[in-house]
Amino acid sequence: MASKIPTICSNRVSDKAKQYLDTVAKFVQEECIPADAVFDAQVGVGDARWEGHPHIIEELKAKAQKLGLWNLFLPKGHYKESPGFSNLEYGLMAEWMGRSRTASEACNCAAPDTGNMEVLAKYGNDAQKEQWLRPLMEGKIRSAFLMTEPQVASSDARNITMDIRREGNEYVLNGQKWWSSGAGDPRCSIYIVMGKTDGNNKDPYRQQSVVLVPADTPGITVHRMLSVYGFDDAPHGHGHLTFTNVRVPVSNIVLGEGRGFEIIQGRLGPGRIHHAMRTIGAAERAVDWLLMRINDPSKTPFGKKLREHGVIMEWVARSRIEIDASRMLVLNAAITMDEQGPKAALSQIAEAKVMVPNMALTVIDRAVQAFGGAGVCQDTPLAGMWANIRTLRLADGPDEVHLAQMGRNENKRGEAVAKQIKWQLAKSEQMLKERGLTKAEPGTRIKHRTQSRL
Ligand SMILES: Cc1cc2nc3c(=O)[nH]c(=O)nc-3n(C[C@H](O)[C@H](O)[C@H](O)COP(=O)(O)OP(=O)(O)OC[C@H]3O[C@@H](n4cnc5c(N)ncnc54)[C@H](O)[C@@H]3O)c2cc1C
Repeated sequence: MASKIPTICSNRVSDKAKQYLDTVAKFVQEECIPADAVFDAQVGVGDARWEGHPHIIEELKAKAQKLGLWNLFLPKGHYKESPGFSNLEYGLMAEWMGRSRTASEACNCAAPDTGNMEVLAKYGNDAQKEQWLRPLMEGKIRSAFLMTEPQVASSDARNITMDIRREGNEYVLNGQKWWSSGAGDPRCSIYIVMGKTDGNNKDPYRQQSVVLVPADTPGITVHRMLSVYGFDDAPHGHGHLTFTNVRVPVSNIVLGEGRGFEIIQGRLGPGRIHHAMRTIGAAERAVDWLLMRINDPSKTPFGKKLREHGVIMEWVARSRIEIDASRMLVLNAAITMDEQGPKAALSQIAEAKVMVPNMALTVIDRAVQAFGGAGVCQDTPLAGMWANIRTLRLADGPDEVHLAQMGRNENKRGEAVAKQIKWQLAKSEQMLKERGLTKAEPGTRIKHRTQSRL
């Protein structure tokens, strides 16, 4: 199975990681994918959708722990309980997990807990780690990250308005949050909340702070759960919450006042790579379903199996090319993170963040199309996968924000390249002149030769 590791990075994957990769692949294929249907069947109906969580998850967690497939995402050298894998190695494992709805949580590698655990591991103090990181790492509780607000354009985090005011030994929080993923789950015990402690600070990147707020703190109201193209993602869910005079001890601040931007930047790098690799796994699964449908002997539109219609093979081939090319991009970002640190990998991470969901949406859409009406309903995992992945063009920053930044970075060499091209043109001119030549104009030359022959 490990032979599936792309040749370009196989020498960077340890023997231990290769062995784990095989175990993850087998666990996902044989345990998690079949369990996805049980998960759906065990989610309650009506309000009960938010009152418990499917028991199958606990069964899978126990199996994963027995296999040693636990907290695989924590990069080596980062935290003493890390199982010791690089971002590259974990990325390859995350790809397998992305094929199943239940696999990431079964291995305690699900968002947003992974990003939240990294925040606590990287920036939390000992007491915060003991109180929140430990139970998260043990898979006993879940968490949510609360940044986005309904009343402002939150893709620019400077706009965040949640008021965090110090009163004596407490912070008092007031404001609204939405798209708080995970807030629907009754196990979600801790909110990592970004807000403003110093709205007057001249530096707009020092106004924000991150505070830990237990989910049962008085003053928090979960108004409603938001749907994604009609899917409610229960029991995880995406909450719309109000904070009214919510009080927490000052010791709940992470890192210190004004450090919010630093924390969200540190949180998003690895998280984006994890999402990208899981998304590649989802695209692979869509191709599996596409292949199943096009070889189905009972479906013969216009007297032929789908695979015998020319355009379909082109879909298969294009999907393979696009997935493989996207994987290279993500693995390159992971290697850059491993070898030079997350800051050095920012542009590679942004490339993957934009390219991979768009690629996966195209691939899933081909599979949907091949299934006809069945493709858009609940009879295949494709419709749910499409809705889920469509949100990745928004979550963790919309495409346009990353593209604007990447465009600006690329354009930094705009003046220099213009200068170089002009210099090269001038030198060509001079070289032609030295040789008594004029610039080749293909059309006129042919005409000239024809005329001379006559
Ligand atoms: C399923 C899902 C889960 C989410 N989970 C979480 C979560 O757990 N925690 C959390 O805090 N947030 C979460 N979010 C919120 C997400 O991060 C935001 O929706 C996103 O950052 C965009 O912010 P906004 O919705 O306020 O849109 P806005 O900031 O209002 O942006 C709207 C649109 O404006 C355009 N735009 C913005 N900037 C530019 C630019 N520079 N150039 C050109 N166009 C631009 C983009 O097209 C963008 O989509 C989630 C969202 C979804 C859909």
